[in-house]
Amino acid sequence: MTPGEGLSETERCVRPEQIEILSVAIDRVDFPATLALIDLWVMQHRAAAANGRPRLPVRQICTVNPEFVMDARRNPDFAAALQRADLRVPDGVGILWAARLLGSPLKERVTGSDGIYYIAQRAAERGWRVYFLGAAPGVAEQTAEQLRALYPGLQVAGTFAGSPAEDLWPEIASRLAEAEPDILFVAYGHPNQDLWIDRHRAALPAAVALGIGGAFDFVSGVAVRAPLWMRRLGIEWLHRFVRQPWRWRRMLKLPMFAALILQQWAHLRWLNRTCR
Ligand code: UDP
Repeated sequence: MTPGEGLSETERCVRPEQIEILSVAIDRVDFPATLALIDLWVMQHRAAAANGRPRLPVRQICTVNPEFVMDARRNPDFAAALQRADLRVPDGVGILWAARLLGSPLKERVTGSDGIYYIAQRAAERGWRVYFLGAAPGVAEQTAEQLRALYPGLQVAGTFAGSPAEDLWPEIASRLAEAEPDILFVAYGHPNQDLWIDRHRAALPAAVALGIGGAFDFVSGVAVRAPLWMRRLGIEWLHRFVRQPWRWRRMLKLPMFAALILQQWAHLRWLNRTCR
């Protein structure tokens, strides 16, 4: 399939450009562009249902940070799922740093932890039905309650902890079929959530499914997010490391990511000089 084939005229106009960070494609979007695409996809999904046309496949959104990029290098299934996703938003500060250094600066971080609020707000305004799947038992319910309190009118299609394990798929499938959500948040952590959405794409009844990592934990208050000043300084990862030191092994991927980006940057500089 050639790029752009199968896209509607409207979608072709709003389809974002992409950049590549260590062979992982990332879409050059900010929050307004992301919300505009979600708007469009929910509209298309609802229009197909209203006109009795076959259900459109779910649109998958992945929130890419440096850990995703490093994991995709080792896990070809994850790399392929990212490649197939409809939208890969730049979640981590490391992605913005890398993009700037390699000459393709991005506008802002589009994090799942902020995105869940923006999407819930838009959902409340538009009457979209939202399903909260994942996290520890009870956390999805608390997340939904918290968001309903913030955005009155938010239609919660359902909540379920579930599990990405295959033996639970029949139960999740029947719950989702009954709930008929427009938006499906999946909080199983990466790469499981993204692989799970990719695997079940054809059967997921939602318009948009988004892997959201630890966002339910933050919204519900089960985990504390870094204060705004730390996020603004780009050191949210440091807060996570201090609060959740058991993540140290995972975090070793960050200096490795930085080293690979610096290597690529040095190579680009050398090429620029020698080709002049
Ligand atoms: N989780 C889950 N089932 C699993 C594994 C993880 O519900 O089998 C949840 C976990 O409770 C947490 C989220 O997935 O709410 C993972 O959060 P994390 O911040 O680790 O996400 P990541 O940074 O890996 O995307």
